[in-house]
Amino acid sequence: MNADVPGWEGSVGPFPSQYGQPHVYARDVHSGAGNCVCGQALGARRHVQAAPGVPIPDSSR
Ligand SMILES: [Zn+2]
Repeated sequence: MNADVPGWEGSVGPFPSQYGQPHVYARDVHSGAGNCVCGQALGARRHVQAAPGVPIPDSSR
Protein backbone atom coordinates (compact mmCIF):
# COMPACT_ATOMS: atom_id res chain seq x y z
CA MET A 1 0.00 0.00 0.00
CA ASN A 2 2.72 2.41 0.95
CA ALA A 3 4.30 2.19 -2.49
CA ASP A 4 1.24 4.07 -3.71
CA VAL A 5 1.70 6.92 -1.24
CA PRO A 6 3.01 10.06 -2.97
CA GLY A 7 6.37 11.04 -1.53
CA TRP A 8 6.98 7.62 0.07
CA GLU A 9 10.64 6.57 0.16
CA GLY A 10 11.69 9.55 -1.90
CA SER A 11 9.23 8.98 -4.73
CA VAL A 12 8.01 12.12 -6.44
CA GLY A 13 4.92 13.95 -5.33
CA PRO A 14 2.48 14.75 -4.07
CA PHE A 15 1.08 16.49 -7.08
CA PRO A 16 -1.95 18.81 -6.86
CA SER A 17 -4.29 16.01 -7.93
CA GLN A 18 -3.05 13.98 -4.97
CA TYR A 19 -3.31 16.61 -2.24
CA GLY A 20 -6.57 15.16 -0.97
CA GLN A 21 -5.25 11.63 -0.49
CA PRO A 22 -2.73 10.32 2.05
CA HIS A 23 0.79 11.43 1.23
CA VAL A 24 4.14 12.25 2.77
CA TYR A 25 4.33 15.81 4.06
CA ALA A 26 6.20 18.08 1.69
CA ARG A 27 6.93 21.53 3.06
CA ASP A 28 5.73 24.38 0.87
CA VAL A 29 8.71 26.72 0.62
CA HIS A 30 6.27 29.54 -0.12
CA SER A 31 4.34 28.97 3.11
CA GLY A 32 5.56 31.10 6.00
CA ALA A 33 3.66 28.84 8.39
CA GLY A 34 5.51 25.77 7.16
CA ASN A 35 2.45 24.07 5.79
CA CYS A 36 2.56 21.23 3.31
CA VAL A 37 2.23 21.89 -0.41
CA CYS A 38 -1.35 20.65 -0.02
CA GLY A 39 -2.05 23.60 2.30
CA GLN A 40 -2.50 21.54 5.46
CA ALA A 41 -0.34 21.59 8.58
CA LEU A 42 2.03 18.75 9.37
CA GLY A 43 -0.43 17.13 11.75
CA ALA A 44 -3.21 16.77 9.16
CA ARG A 45 -4.63 13.26 8.98
CA ARG A 46 -3.73 12.92 5.31
CA HIS A 47 -0.04 13.07 6.14
CA VAL A 48 1.40 9.61 6.68
CA GLN A 49 4.99 10.75 7.34
CA ALA A 50 6.78 14.01 8.08
CA ALA A 51 9.43 13.13 5.49
CA PRO A 52 10.42 9.89 3.75
CA GLY A 53 11.14 7.45 6.56
CA VAL A 54 10.25 9.97 9.28
CA PRO A 55 7.01 9.48 11.27
CA ILE A 56 4.76 12.37 12.22
CA PRO A 57 5.78 13.60 15.69
CA ASP A 58 3.10 12.89 18.29
CA SER A 59 3.29 16.56 19.26
CA SER A 60 1.98 17.51 15.82
CA ARG A 61 -1.05 15.22 15.93
ZN1 LIG B 1 0.16 17.51 2.52
